[in-house]
Amino acid sequence: MPDVLSAPLVVEFPFTRSLGPVQSAFLTGLRERVLLGVRTNDGRTLVPPVEYDPVTAEEIRDLVEVAPTGTVTTWAWNHAPRRGQPLDTPFAWVLVRLDGADTALLHALDAPGPDAVHTGMRVRVRWAAERSGAITDIACFEPYDGEAARPTGHSGAFADAVSGVVVPARLDYTYSPGRAQSDYIRALAERRTVGERCPSCRKVYVPPRGACPTCGVATAEHVEVGPRGTVTTFCIVNIKAKNLDIEVPYVYAHIALDGADLALHARIGGIPYDQVRMGLRVEPVWTEGTRHPDHYRPTGEPDAAYDTYKELL
Ligand SMILES: [Zn+2]
Repeated sequence: MPDVLSAPLVVEFPFTRSLGPVQSAFLTGLRERVLLGVRTNDGRTLVPPVEYDPVTAEEIRDLVEVAPTGTVTTWAWNHAPRRGQPLDTPFAWVLVRLDGADTALLHALDAPGPDAVHTGMRVRVRWAAERSGAITDIACFEPYDGEAARPTGHSGAFADAVSGVVVPARLDYTYSPGRAQSDYIRALAERRTVGERCPSCRKVYVPPRGACPTCGVATAEHVEVGPRGTVTTFCIVNIKAKNLDIEVPYVYAHIALDGADLALHARIGGIPYDQVRMGLRVEPVWTEGTRHPDHYRPTGEPDAAYDTYKELL
C-alpha cells in the first residue's frame, strides 16, 4: 500500500444572508426578547417561522407571538462541545416546542448531565446578555418547573428591524487526497507534474483522480506532462479576494499542459491582462517554499493552433 497523504483542512467564510419579512421579524423579535411564529391557513403555528407553508406551499405572513417556555420533544447529549457551539460545557441538543407553537425549535439545553434531560421536560429560554437579531440571542434553554409564560401580544412589527445576518461558516476536517493525488502532490514537491493515463481511452488525467470518469476503470500508469502548456480559455478577475495579495485585474486560465488531456487552472502573469488569449503558450513560475507554481507566464513561442486544444475546452 503506497503512502497516502493526509492533512488538516479548514474552509472558512462569512455568509451574508438577506432576510425576508418573516425571518426579519423572527430575528428582530429575539433581539427584543419576543418569540414569534407564523400561523398557517389551517391554524398551525410554526416556530421557527417559515415563509411558505411546508404542506401546501402557500405564502404565510401572519405573525403570532408564542411563550418563552416550552417542552422538550426530543434530545441528544453532546459530550464534547466544539468551537462556536452555544455552550462550552457538555450540553443537550434539544427540540423545544414552545408554548403556543405546533412545531419545535432546535437549540441547546444547559443541564448538568444526560440523566437530567428527558423528553417531555419543561424548559425556558435563557436570553443572551447582548442581543443583535440572531438565533444566538437565545443563549440556550434551561430546565424550568414554573407556570407557562404568557405572550405579551406583540404584533411582530418593529422599528429598526434586522434586514440581514452574517453567518460565519467553518468546515474543519482532515482531508486525504487518495493514492493518485498523493503521487501528484509528491511530484509537485520536485517541481514535476505527473498525470495518469487511462488504459482504455488513453487519456492522460492531470491532476489524476485514480480512475477514468469516462471508462470507469482504474488508472495507474504515471505520465509526466508539461512543464509548458497552452491557455485553452480564461477569465479576467476584477474582484479582489480577501487574504489574497494579488492586484486586480488579473487573469485566471485553464491551461492544458503538454501531454495532458485535461486542463488545470492557474493565474497568468508576466503579460498585461488584456493581452492574454486562447492558444497562448505558457510555462510555470515557481517560488521558494511552495508546492505548486505561483503562476504561469508566456514562453514567447507562437500561439498554439486552435485544432491542437479544441478538445480540451
Ligand atoms: Zn478512459
